[in-house]
Amino acid sequence: MELVVARPEGLYCPPGDFYIDPWRQVERAVITHGHGDHARTGHSHYLAAAAGEGILRKRLGEDINLLTLEYGEVINHHGVKLSLHPAGHVLGSAQVRLEYKGEVWVASGDYKVEADGTCPPFESVRCHTFITESTFGLPIYKWQPQSEIFADINQWWQNNADNNRTSVLFCYAFGKAQRILSGLNPHIGPILVHGAVEPLNKVYREGGVNLPATQYVSDMQDKSQIGKSIVLAPPSAQGTTWMKRFGDYSDAFASGWMQLRGTRRRRGVDRGFIMSDHADWPGLQAAIQATGAERVFVTHGQVHPMVRWLCEQGLDAQGFVTEYGEEAAEAETGLPETDAPSEAGLSPEATMPPGAEGSAHMNMTKATV
Ligand SMILES: [Zn+2]
Ligand SMILES: [Zn+2]
Repeated sequence: MELVVARPEGLYCPPGDFYIDPWRQVERAVITHGHGDHARTGHSHYLAAAAGEGILRKRLGEDINLLTLEYGEVINHHGVKLSLHPAGHVLGSAQVRLEYKGEVWVASGDYKVEADGTCPPFESVRCHTFITESTFGLPIYKWQPQSEIFADINQWWQNNADNNRTSVLFCYAFGKAQRILSGLNPHIGPILVHGAVEPLNKVYREGGVNLPATQYVSDMQDKSQIGKSIVLAPPSAQGTTWMKRFGDYSDAFASGWMQLRGTRRRRGVDRGFIMSDHADWPGLQAAIQATGAERVFVTHGQVHPMVRWLCEQGLDAQGFVTEYGEEAAEAETGLPETDAPSEAGLSPEATMPPGAEGSAHMNMTKATV
């Protein structure tokens, strides 16, 4: 019995008659988290983790028809037992566990295995079939511990502050910005935020997440402190007139894509910090193995290399055709996602050509391995 199949509208659960993160408008949508490629407007009914309610209402509208579940809470819909479990990706992110007639499937959504202070840590859930993301599913992606990344960021900020030069750090406004905030040392100087970031900080704080004090540059009393400040801004702010107020600033970009040679230069920033809210290659492997699943479906990004690796491990692995990934990747980098691997110096068979997963058929595709 297939508990999840790919349909033109999205990933569909036939016995439960609902979708998971559908990309077209449907009657019932289970939403794993609030990033734009997973949480879309226009569904009649939404189901999501309670911790993500503030984010979803902020992004999709206060009046959406939303039912929430606490992590681990079970509801029964048409005989399908459904529960949500922490994915460690962003505030409110969840894996979806489905149980029907003794079969257990888990759809991961996006996930990260390293714990951070801004959302509950990833929880491994045993299942027969696991649907995993694979945004960074290549061996070149291996993250430093985040404590080291935070130390690097704070050191960069301190050096700039010593020279009375503002530090501007570009990062995705939802998730990444709050995670960075949680790791900043507020003793170095004021923390300034762009208008796209602060509303999400507010939702995090209302959700009980401890973040250091932030302010808008326009509210700053003592403008002489601008040179001691760090500024968190979305990639879209780069090159706009909003930046002019910071004078001769130093800038940086925080993203998993910074792992790729050439990305920092193309972004035109002084520094690149390799920091992602997705699992790296070892993290993906460990997470998949820990589920105990014999069957794995792969979505997002690097589907082919992950499917091949899983098949080599003796698992039944296939790619799932979805419309996830592009929007989030673009928002994270300001570059089309597919722009990235071409500069990685990878052999052609190790990467998918742009859009190769998005074949005309929306059915499951058995990957060639
Ligand atoms: Zn995401
Ligand atoms: Zn995603």
